Amino acid sequence: MKSRRGFTFLIIGISVVGGFLFVWPWAVMTRQEQSSGKSEATPTIDEYQPKSTLITREHKIERAKFPFVDIHSHHWNPTAGEVDQLVTEMDTINLRVMVNLSGGTGEQLKNTVAAMKGRYPNRFVVFANMSYDDLNTPGFGKRVAERLEEDVKNGAQGLKIFKDFGMELKYANGQRVHVDDPEFDAVFQKCAELKIPVLIHVAEPSAFFDPWDYHNERWEELKEFPRRARPPAKYPPFETLMTERNHLFAKHPKTNFIAAHLGFHGNDMERLGKLFDSYPNVYVDIAAVLAELGRQPYSAHDFLVKYQDRVLMGKDIYEVNEYKWYFRALETRDEYFEYYRKRHAFWRIYGFQVPDEVLKKVYYKNALKLVPGIDAKAFPE
Ligand SMILES: [Zn+2]
Repeated sequence: MKSRRGFTFLIIGISVVGGFLFVWPWAVMTRQEQSSGKSEATPTIDEYQPKSTLITREHKIERAKFPFVDIHSHHWNPTAGEVDQLVTEMDTINLRVMVNLSGGTGEQLKNTVAAMKGRYPNRFVVFANMSYDDLNTPGFGKRVAERLEEDVKNGAQGLKIFKDFGMELKYANGQRVHVDDPEFDAVFQKCAELKIPVLIHVAEPSAFFDPWDYHNERWEELKEFPRRARPPAKYPPFETLMTERNHLFAKHPKTNFIAAHLGFHGNDMERLGKLFDSYPNVYVDIAAVLAELGRQPYSAHDFLVKYQDRVLMGKDIYEVNEYKWYFRALETRDEYFEYYRKRHAFWRIYGFQVPDEVLKKVYYKNALKLVPGIDAKAFPE
């Protein structure tokens, strides 16, 4: 009896001590955290970095399934060494032809063509840009058209229009240059005549025009880059820019336009579809807006199948290690994976795997159709 009671006490003792040892670290941690206020305070969005516990199939695709054209890249005055390095990197990911949209005009254009196409004729395409230096001198539009014609003789294969056009570019009298400003009609007519495409960036993601508040889905990006905000006091509204842009497309039915970044309708595919239906001369690239497609994989898949002749592969800011997200999204059905640039997407994305025939069109066939002078033999049938 006595020994059994002793045994019972021993068990209780072990339980109490063991229980204390087990509970103690938590008690201490909780107290520490309470003193710093951590456990009770809500983390900021930067602090809260939940790790997904999802176990699912993952494909690491380092190289595109087919050779591709990057229709949207920027390389300002590249040196021979930089171009050599580029080609080495392009080969690792199956990037067959890179389109440098930042060719400039005149001497700069000549130099860029020489550095890129001059050394690797089948690997690079250079687009010209407009100079606005003489914007306020009468006859501006006609002169731009003439300069463009000269640039094309010197090797340019398209015209890129940057986002200042329509938003920041102003005449000396302070009046904003509208996207459909008749002064530029001669330029777009010239593009039709020369059979070169116009890759045009109009506006910005619509969220940049919205108030920077806690409902804005680009809150983080606007915090990091406040100058990307487009408040109504300083900028035309998003819809005004869209209206002007669409009027431009309508005015020049023989000119092929590639609206950069899904025309900023990546968050409204139905609207983009209507744009395509209304203007057969309009195409888009997917540069820097992959997260829009990746958050709606079913819609993105169906959209790309339906409009497979209208969408082109592009990346924008060149970084060889970031293309794999595009390959993974376009070529697999991987789920819920992190995007490469958090400020663009406060969400994870999903693959929307398109059929090979669609993939080929997005990767190169549509670019071959639109951009003159790319060697089609470097690509599969
Ligand atoms: Zn760009």
